[in-house]
Amino acid sequence: MQAGLLDTWKRPSRARGAIAWLAAGLLISFYLLLYLPESTFTPNFPDVLSPIAAALHLPSKWLLYGLLYSIAMVVGGFFMLRRHGSSRYHRIRTVTVVTVQIVLGFSLPLALKIAGKPELYLSYVWPLSYDKLFPDTLAAMPAAAALWFIFASLVLFPVLAWRYGKRFYCSWVCGCGGLAETFGDGWRHLSDKSTKSWRIEQWSVHGVLVLVLLMTGLVIADGVSRSGVVGAAGGAEGARVALSAQLALEATTLAELAAAELAPRAESIRREVEATLPPTWVLDKLAPVEVAATAGDAAAMASAVEDLAYGVMPGSPLGRAAGTVKGLYAFFIGAMFSGVAGVGLYPLMGTRVWCRFGCPMAAILGLVQKLGRFRIAVKKDMCISCGNCSAYCEMGIDVRAYAMANLDVRRASCVGCGMCAHVCPRGVLRLTNDADVGPGQRVGEWVVEI
Ligand code: SF4
Ligand code: SF4
Ligand code: SF4
Repeated sequence: MQAGLLDTWKRPSRARGAIAWLAAGLLISFYLLLYLPESTFTPNFPDVLSPIAAALHLPSKWLLYGLLYSIAMVVGGFFMLRRHGSSRYHRIRTVTVVTVQIVLGFSLPLALKIAGKPELYLSYVWPLSYDKLFPDTLAAMPAAAALWFIFASLVLFPVLAWRYGKRFYCSWVCGCGGLAETFGDGWRHLSDKSTKSWRIEQWSVHGVLVLVLLMTGLVIADGVSRSGVVGAAGGAEGARVALSAQLALEATTLAELAAAELAPRAESIRREVEATLPPTWVLDKLAPVEVAATAGDAAAMASAVEDLAYGVMPGSPLGRAAGTVKGLYAFFIGAMFSGVAGVGLYPLMGTRVWCRFGCPMAAILGLVQKLGRFRIAVKKDMCISCGNCSAYCEMGIDVRAYAMANLDVRRASCVGCGMCAHVCPRGVLRLTNDADVGPGQRVGEWVVEI
């Protein structure tokens, strides 16, 4: 029996008791404080985190967030390994995912920011990081980084998922999965294992994938059409088209500015917009830009100016549709679902609410995984139906049902965390990338056995 199994449901913090509700409330509040000041839906929401970041000499609140996130993963990883560190798979996996977070999720963006370059989070690619294939986003980064995001999103990661399963990313690289596996480990058993929740999961995660595909298609189509009409349009319409192009360009340069330079830039943007558009329009749409500038948050200001660029386009249904879908997705999916609910509900619904029900990357890599080589091999007629594997599956997979039926587990949602195999008292389960082998044939290749 592995450490930690016996008292899982005895601690109020792990059994939806008062402490768990309190923890959920605190997490949700933190994420609301993080996201709401950024949103065009709540432009006057006070930004309390940026001053804290400034007091700590961090260039933006996102780097403060990155710092807290990394600390949570290091501390959570320590406790996770105290419980499950007897497994080599968990030791290597935990050290890897925490290192990726510290290096690519915090130190590199911080170093780039200090050097006056745009913050780049190289381990987050499309569609998880949904704007990484947007023309304006790609244009704002160095060519090598743009090529990396295109190649990793469309080629490298799907190929790796086919070969090794989506665990290569979801349990070894992705910071969202990393937080779940470390800080969230004590709550992993809270995921709903019912067939009903599996059905909801399939509709919901693929629904978000459809949305992200639609949004990406619209934004790319709009970018192409904008670049085509800038030179052609004339008169008042032409002025708005030119202003939109100018603002989109300005958005790409904002990340390089120091906090003190943002307010003067916001002022010059106001003048540019006032010269072209009616004052009532200007009043509404410039507020998020000025709030971000006052807070000294260049990333938020860049995003607000990008939204403004969409907003000023004249009578283009494509531009308006792209701007609307992007704004709705950014708020409801990117912030409320993945952040507020995704982490905030750890203590009540388990650690993979977002991974399971919302992440479009999980949907794509899951489809590829189903066609690929990764599976959880089941030793025939060995299962004693103790249920540990199902209880500890954070993705809500009823592993016991497969083991009892002598069936290998091939589920799109499995993130290959390996916990089901780790807690099995009979050694029934084994994560593998090997093609099926016959008796006497060598089983091996690149796999960390557990
Ligand atoms: S499911 Fe999505 S958010 Fe979760 S670990 Fe995988 S890629 Fe990251
Ligand atoms: S089936 Fe096993 S390896 Fe897959 S997510 Fe569940 S516990 Fe992790
Ligand atoms: S596979 Fe192992 S952990 Fe799962 S029910 Fe069977 S014996 Fe228990």
